[in-house]
Amino acid sequence: MQVTIKCPSCNADSGFFLVKDNLMGPFRCWKCKALFTIKVQKGELVKCEPLAEEVFTKAKADAAAKRKKAKEKSA
Ligand SMILES: [Zn+2]
Repeated sequence: MQVTIKCPSCNADSGFFLVKDNLMGPFRCWKCKALFTIKVQKGELVKCEPLAEEVFTKAKADAAAKRKKAKEKSA
């Protein structure tokens, strides 16, 4: 399913391909590099909130740490 997200800060359209109808997660505008938390429900964008760079970086680090832990467990 294709979802189009309009960047609230620069109005650039971003095409998103979704496997599921619902999604909540970070989104980075390809044009102005602004970060947002987006929420998609039934293929429609229902929420788009500015996201601080450090929050995004931390979320990514947390996810990487979790993956590392899971890898260590299975090894
Ligand atoms: Zn933008």
